[in-house]
Amino acid sequence: MAELISIDEACRRVQQAVRPLESEDVPLAEALDRVLALDVDSPADVPPFDNSAMDGFAVRAGPPAELSLIGESRAGHPTAARVGAGTAVRISTGAMIPEGTTAVVPVERAREGDGSGQQVRVEASAAGEHIRRAGEDIRAGELVLGRGAVVGPAELGVAASIGRADLPCTRRPTVTVLVTGDELTEPGHELAAGSIYSSNAFALSGLVERSPATLLDRATVRDSVESTRDALGRALSEADVTCVSGGVSVGPHDHVKATLGELGVAEHFWGVALRPGKPTWFGTHDRRLVFGLPGNPVSAMVAFLLFVRPALLALQGASPRIARVSAVLDDPMPLHPVREQAVRVRLSAREDGWHATSTGEQGSHVLTSMLGADGLALLPPGEGRSAAGSRFEVELL
Ligand code: AMP
Ligand code: MG
Repeated sequence: MAELISIDEACRRVQQAVRPLESEDVPLAEALDRVLALDVDSPADVPPFDNSAMDGFAVRAGPPAELSLIGESRAGHPTAARVGAGTAVRISTGAMIPEGTTAVVPVERAREGDGSGQQVRVEASAAGEHIRRAGEDIRAGELVLGRGAVVGPAELGVAASIGRADLPCTRRPTVTVLVTGDELTEPGHELAAGSIYSSNAFALSGLVERSPATLLDRATVRDSVESTRDALGRALSEADVTCVSGGVSVGPHDHVKATLGELGVAEHFWGVALRPGKPTWFGTHDRRLVFGLPGNPVSAMVAFLLFVRPALLALQGASPRIARVSAVLDDPMPLHPVREQAVRVRLSAREDGWHATSTGEQGSHVLTSMLGADGLALLPPGEGRSAAGSRFEVELL
């Protein structure tokens, strides 16, 4: 490991290597959480026609009056009747405003007198009252959804409101998760002496799917040159992104780095001034990204969150910036002399803003420190302990 680089520098190198994926048309029903590859303009006004904001009567605006009812406009069923002096049309919310109408009087401000359904007494109304105009929400030709936006429920609704059946979205990246180690056992099997259950396979797959990205494959790789070469070779030929955990250090049974070199993956960095997560490796093979993540379970998750998650967003053309808040760290925390620390914290809102509390023992093997964590408090390097009550940036999970 040459000189360790900062988290920011590592993120910068990852972003520099990312080339956004191509665009594809995605049916609206499948577009949730996808990222828009192009701007979307509206072909028409929304609402498409002037319509009533209330159930009531379409009238000519004016003083209180006794009017003859000459028709009804219901939602989806416009009327040909024309409102003039002395007449009104019964109207429902969302129904098209009949010609001649200049106001709608809500039912609460009208009384149907004689029970014949032919006459209505309305209170005074002002011009334009309770009429929703065509284009009040969106004007024809207006940009409604910007490229790079993540499609959430509101974006789906707006796209549907302008009649889009599909949206141009960047292809979702495919990811292969490889975990290395002869000690790794699948949950559900008996543990042999010296073995452990492979938590990274599941934690990393969960992070991939949450990112969101498509999990292509998840496999365990033995600590041999052949298994490592086979697995990495296949992943490189199939997936946009390969995440491999463990085996990336310099022990006699760590084959990941050498094999990646042999396979022509170009190294962009090796080693980040980060705790946990120092032994993180990143390289590219043409447009494909390879992350060598630490084997220690917390380190693997932290390195994924700080480096892989933004890369998966950038591949989809979304902003790689993850939301951060500034929070007061109540308990003093030991600082590391040269490495930034990613402390798993819970957040609570108080009168003076966000407060962060450590989730407990912070060792890189203490995976339960990820349980219930709202964010990673980023502590800069320093001597001794952080002062009680000092403020730090917290990257939200
Ligand atoms: P390594 O980087 O391969 O030396 O692994 C560092 C530590 O992480 C060792 O204690 C491994 O047993 C552990 N480790 C590696 N892979 C996994 C995994 N998939 N699940 C849980 N622990 C792992
Ligand atoms: Mg190992």
